[in-house]
Amino acid sequence: MNLEFTGEDRILVTGGGGMLGGAIARILKASTPAEVFAPKRDQLDLLDSRAVQGYFNTTRPTHLFHPAARVFGLGGNTRFPGQMYFENVAINTNVIEAARVSGTRKVSGIGTGCVYPLMYDGQYLKEEQIWDGPPHGSEWSYAQAKRGMLTQLSAYQQQYELDYVFPVCGNLYGPNDLFDIEYGHVIPSLIAKFHAAQIRREAVTVWGTGVAVRDFSFVDDAANAIIAAHRSLSGPVNIASGNIHSIRDIVDALDELTGSSLEILWDSTKPDGQGRRFYNLDKLQSIGFSPHYSLKQGLAATWSWYNANYPNVRT
Ligand code: GDP
Repeated sequence: MNLEFTGEDRILVTGGGGMLGGAIARILKASTPAEVFAPKRDQLDLLDSRAVQGYFNTTRPTHLFHPAARVFGLGGNTRFPGQMYFENVAINTNVIEAARVSGTRKVSGIGTGCVYPLMYDGQYLKEEQIWDGPPHGSEWSYAQAKRGMLTQLSAYQQQYELDYVFPVCGNLYGPNDLFDIEYGHVIPSLIAKFHAAQIRREAVTVWGTGVAVRDFSFVDDAANAIIAAHRSLSGPVNIASGNIHSIRDIVDALDELTGSSLEILWDSTKPDGQGRRFYNLDKLQSIGFSPHYSLKQGLAATWSWYNANYPNVRT
């Protein structure tokens, strides 16, 4: 099955003001004749179930992409596990129920690689392994909230025949990310730190030892992969680039990119988080998807976006 979006389709993308939601909506608007709705947080509060149902009743989306989430990096996940759990479960429950009630035909509920069991650390993770054991402790509440959405989607498929994809995204980064030094993800945090250190002529402090390994996807690659998966696949699908790098690689690449030879301080009192997380991409590659951006290209695009937009960046 390879569904085409037509001029009759109405596609709702949650989190239109976010990095991934913004990219999915932009690509859909440019590449399909469908009507695309991408409300931002001030236009639709996803924690408000009545407002969410009202919005779905009015727009009656035939397809839903749901990347909106309360997202933090390692620091925020450790600091706010309760808020993280409540907000994500509430948002996902509201949005997917509203899609069902308003007759949406297919849902992409965006997941994350931290749903995988800790016991497979360092192996190429496969979609059928998600439920084999508990997730890594550093992000367990976020992971369990996302697992809850997968449960809701598969229960709705079973009872209501609502088709779904659960894109399991590796580490994403790009323009319009949250550049929060304390609670954000590693790449935007480091970009903000390198930028500040250049201005103040001070050292860059990097958390942990730099040995942790992740698969990093530039946001446009991830958005294109998610749209391709929605058109051709069902169930959990790993969305990653195959660009597997250590945190030290990121620091080296930013050092080269900024050309400023800043002093790097490794703060080993901060955690490394999960050791090694990367993905089997057979399912995604079976539909012919491959990414456009290398790590270097993606970091260069993000760094120049940050410089052009600072200080008007989301934190
Ligand atoms: P994760 O991939 O889900 O664990 O989340 P992150 O995007 O927060 O990446 C965490 C990894 O980056 C860990 O190995 C951290 O030790 C390392 N890291 C290094 N410096 C930073 C930083 O400034 N912020 C964050 N969030 N992580 C950092």
